[in-house]
Amino acid sequence: MLRTNIRLFKVFGIPIEVNISWFIIFALVSWSLVSLYFPTRYPDLSVASHWGMGLVAALMLFASVVLHELGHSYVAKTHGVPIKRITLFLFGGVSQLSKESSDPITEIKIAIAGPGVSYVLMAVFFGLYFVASRGNTPQSVAPVLKYLAYVNGILGTFNLIPGFPLDGGRLLRAAIWKVTGDLRRSTYIATRVGGVVGIAFIAIGFLSVFRGLFVFGLWMVLIGFFLRQAAEASYVQVVVSSALKGVKVGDIMKTDVVTVSPELTVQDLVDSYFFRYHYDSFPVSQEGGLLGLVSLNDLKKLPRERWRDTFVRDVMQTDLTTLSVARDEDVAIVLRRAVRDQTGTLPVVEANQLVGIITRRDIMEALRVFSDLGH
Ligand SMILES: [Zn+2]
Repeated sequence: MLRTNIRLFKVFGIPIEVNISWFIIFALVSWSLVSLYFPTRYPDLSVASHWGMGLVAALMLFASVVLHELGHSYVAKTHGVPIKRITLFLFGGVSQLSKESSDPITEIKIAIAGPGVSYVLMAVFFGLYFVASRGNTPQSVAPVLKYLAYVNGILGTFNLIPGFPLDGGRLLRAAIWKVTGDLRRSTYIATRVGGVVGIAFIAIGFLSVFRGLFVFGLWMVLIGFFLRQAAEASYVQVVVSSALKGVKVGDIMKTDVVTVSPELTVQDLVDSYFFRYHYDSFPVSQEGGLLGLVSLNDLKKLPRERWRDTFVRDVMQTDLTTLSVARDEDVAIVLRRAVRDQTGTLPVVEANQLVGIITRRDIMEALRVFSDLGH
């Protein structure tokens, strides 16, 4: 469930996506603002005002998180590190860099940009709050501005906690990197600190639950587990990236590809291909051109009695931009993508022609070989 992302819109050509977990959080935040935060602080205002304030505040909070991420993205882009997408999930956002920054100073600039934006927003909202609370604006305006000033302050500060992959952890890593010149080792240390910070959050969370702060405590526990898991994943990713550094798809792809025709029936596909080759998917091609990919998963939805009168072209996936890779793509990035999209097989395409195939198993094999060689 947590793997599903929904694309919202693009800003500066960067797709903004939300993970579906985010909708739950958005609903929770809106609900707590509408029914707890604003009513307890401003009981004189009407229920309708509380609703309006809560929804506007929740939306502006969302916009603040996006702006924080755009801060990272903008600086990354100007330093030659393109951003693939921004994903908002449970606790905030992630700007997905297309590669690691090449030097610690660039990393520091990218990492600091997000909290920088959050603090600027905090200052702006405080300024607006002072103006609104002195002018004759409707009573509901100033409290929302004050809330937004606070949350942006919290957003900036939370992200500066020195546990990787939080921004503060990135800063810590870059600092160690600058001193030692060793990216892998600095990532190890920064992710270790991230793990410890995660434990601290979990501990504070449990203590809070025992002291009756149930919701706050659960939040802290949740964030703690998330931080630990993210720290772990980041370290694995850096180890993988450094072992596979410079390895391109073309270096390890297989060129003797078994393809299937779109005109084949599903029955023949199963009998003559899946049973024979034991691959989990096959590229569908006609005259060298790639039309799509057909996997075992695509067949699961189809009842067995329809196998004889259904053709490969009816069940194959045809979204080639997400299904295929190019010969000169970095294997480390392709692996990350394959894990994220849960795909095992990726056709390699050049000028619309199928030139090879790369599987997750091939990449893992290459990873093993290159790590053994101390690549
Ligand atoms: Zn950030």
